[in-house]
Amino acid sequence: MREYIPYSRPSISDEEVKDVIEVLESGWLSKGPKSAEFEEMLKEELGVKYVVAVNSCTAALHLALISLGIGPGDEVITSPFTFCASANVIAHVGAKPVFVDIKEDDYCIDASLIEQYITPNTKAIMPVHYGGGACDMDLIVKIAEKHSLKVIEDTAHGLYARYKEIPLGTMGDVGAYSFYATKNITTGEGGALVTNNKELADKARVMSLHGMSKNAWNRYNKSGSWAYDVLYAGYKYNITDIQSAIGINQLKKLDGFQNRRLEIVAKYHQAFSQVNGIKLLQEVPDNRHAWHLYTLQLMDDKLGVDRDELIELLANKNVGTSVHFIPLHLQSYYQNTYGYKQGDFPKAEKVFEGLLSLPLYPSLTDDEVDYIIKSVLDILLV
Ligand SMILES: *Cc1c(COP(=O)(O)O)cnc(C)c1O
Repeated sequence: MREYIPYSRPSISDEEVKDVIEVLESGWLSKGPKSAEFEEMLKEELGVKYVVAVNSCTAALHLALISLGIGPGDEVITSPFTFCASANVIAHVGAKPVFVDIKEDDYCIDASLIEQYITPNTKAIMPVHYGGGACDMDLIVKIAEKHSLKVIEDTAHGLYARYKEIPLGTMGDVGAYSFYATKNITTGEGGALVTNNKELADKARVMSLHGMSKNAWNRYNKSGSWAYDVLYAGYKYNITDIQSAIGINQLKKLDGFQNRRLEIVAKYHQAFSQVNGIKLLQEVPDNRHAWHLYTLQLMDDKLGVDRDELIELLANKNVGTSVHFIPLHLQSYYQNTYGYKQGDFPKAEKVFEGLLSLPLYPSLTDDEVDYIIKSVLDILLV
């Protein structure tokens, strides 16, 4: 049998290794000059005024809520079809995550349903750009303006994606990117808050480092002063220069990574768009997709194999897969705390039931992609 093909595998090469060693030998390991350089590069890539690099997308989302003043008693509208971090941070600030069902074509929040969930307590909408495809931002921003709500974009999957040529995370008030090991670029762990709002960026920057008025680099470098003031009880969310050294090299390779992702997606599309009973993620022609995920949705039992069986049979053939996501309203915490229950969001449930994600990353070889395709077809078309 051939070697196991993992669901995900980061693309790290000599440049990352060399630059990490350089940082390790430089005498400055925490957030410093490398992180400033990484932030500048992200600003350029996203065409955004302010970037605060932090230690995860979860931290960026949390800082976004805090910096917008969202807290106890408030409600934030989001998708149930996301990673738990999106809603966990809403719970962290004492607000309530209000879920709105998704669309069956792109698995993003159904913006046409949002208004019926708005109450006097609603403070923000958090669209999650599923799999690297953009949510319906024109409508979401319009609804937000009409009801004076903030927009926090969860862009964990969305680096490289565009909504009508606009980078994700820059259409609302604030966006949150992830550089987790499985994402389109990685720093091991890492994230970034992006915004065009100076006040918000300043608050987030201060909150990301203990609520202190000066960051450590400014305190400890030669021209820096020892003095600082604690303005808030902040968090320890900063990125490090070790991570940023990886991120700088990853960002330089983004276009190349995405080209390879597109080649793999084209191969998958060609193989699977023919198969009756499989539904693929729909692309919106005006938008540029980041193809973070490649999903298959098994639509009916005509295939004779359900999702769980397909995952197991693929594992037997040494192909790793994953599921994005188990809807949050089916998770114990969200049921026990907010009273969500099975049946609340039928589209999210239906999609979840048949959904799996195939390996999709730049270092997949053509041979591996062909093997994955053959394995899926062998199982489904026996
Ligand atoms: C990965 C992910 C996050 C969290 O990212 P971290 O950097 O691991 O904190 C948030 N939202 C979504 C949709 C994700 O997939």
